[in-house]
Amino acid sequence: MKIISINAGSSSLKFTLFEMDNEEVIASGVFERIGIEGSKYTIKYNGEKIEQEIELLDHTDAVKVLLEKLIDLAIIKSLDEIKGVGHRLVHGKDKYSKSVIITDEVIEDLEAFREFAPLHNPANVLGIKAFREALGEDTLMVGVFDTAFHQTMEKEAYLYPVPYKWYENYGVRKYGFHGTSHRFMALSMKEILGRENFKMISCHIGNGGSICAIDNMKCIDTSMGFTPLAGIMMGTRSGDVDPSIIPYVMEKEGKNASEVVDDLNKVSGLLGLSECSSDMRDILSNIEQGNEQALLAKKKYVRRVVDYIAQYYVLLGGVDAICFTAGVGENSVPVRKEICESLACLGVKIDLELNEKRGEFVKLSTDESKILVYVIPTDEELMIARDTLNLIQNR
Ligand code: AMP
Repeated sequence: MKIISINAGSSSLKFTLFEMDNEEVIASGVFERIGIEGSKYTIKYNGEKIEQEIELLDHTDAVKVLLEKLIDLAIIKSLDEIKGVGHRLVHGKDKYSKSVIITDEVIEDLEAFREFAPLHNPANVLGIKAFREALGEDTLMVGVFDTAFHQTMEKEAYLYPVPYKWYENYGVRKYGFHGTSHRFMALSMKEILGRENFKMISCHIGNGGSICAIDNMKCIDTSMGFTPLAGIMMGTRSGDVDPSIIPYVMEKEGKNASEVVDDLNKVSGLLGLSECSSDMRDILSNIEQGNEQALLAKKKYVRRVVDYIAQYYVLLGGVDAICFTAGVGENSVPVRKEICESLACLGVKIDLELNEKRGEFVKLSTDESKILVYVIPTDEELMIARDTLNLIQNR
């Protein structure tokens, strides 16, 4: 059975087409600069990569071209072969604690929650509507929320120590993000250990990043918050800062609140501290050339990740496993090494030779390590496809 996973952004649409009988990726690709001059698509299949510039007026256009290309390239024979479409949805607030079949109500909710994810939710709706138009109402579509996995947090974890009415009246609370990836980590660890009753800390560290404390397959706490700005330091995001900085900088720079928050989102993190790049690869090569600020940025980055791991280690009362994923977690050898070295006091010991591996599943911890440490390449697209299949089969 073929299922397509979709991640629709405001001007892009990524897809992965799976044959779910063996969870094999048949084709994948991206449509970029939708509605902007210079739009193009890339489709990978059968070891080939096709790239073409093409005018894409909107998401409906992109989906139309995608489906036409799947047939033209003989990737599928007819649209009937696509039995389900899974959509990555960013914000389901506290209404959605698991993946759901997309109905009109879900679309209305995504629209109603738009102020919680102003860039993502409207784009997600565009993606859903485009597929509905192309495939008709009969093709089942499933929504997989980034926030859903974190809905198991208790009030003590998700509430901020602010006036309670802010929560009651405006929904001010921690929601958490990257839930699909953290869930994939938990499921992978379940497979490795052959049981569900374990405690782990999942480190999704890429350009964005979050840490998640998981007990018995459930999220207990996570580092992102009301928005994805909170938590650890990221590529361009500050992570947690003292909110009093905002009015102070507003006054100093003559900016309004949203401009300063924009600075915290877009010119902070690795980029802000290093003043050279938001990309860990550049940071590492700048360090090699003796750039002190790049070194400072990396040290701070490692420290913030370690802060959260330490916090969650205590919260969970010890852990069985720590896992790394996403761009930095899967690839950045020195960052992993330094994080793990900082955890030596917890009994973490990794094999430095195995740590040289990039982008692949690997057990890093040695036999003497008190905590298992793994690198697990995340696969949010597969999670989305699995949830879609599951909901189709159990309808
Ligand atoms: P993501 O958002 O998951 O795509 O992750 C992007 C981040 O991963 C960027 O900071 C990249 O520099 C980092 N990254 C990807 N490949 C490598 C690598 N080989 N070494 C170090 N960092 C990497």
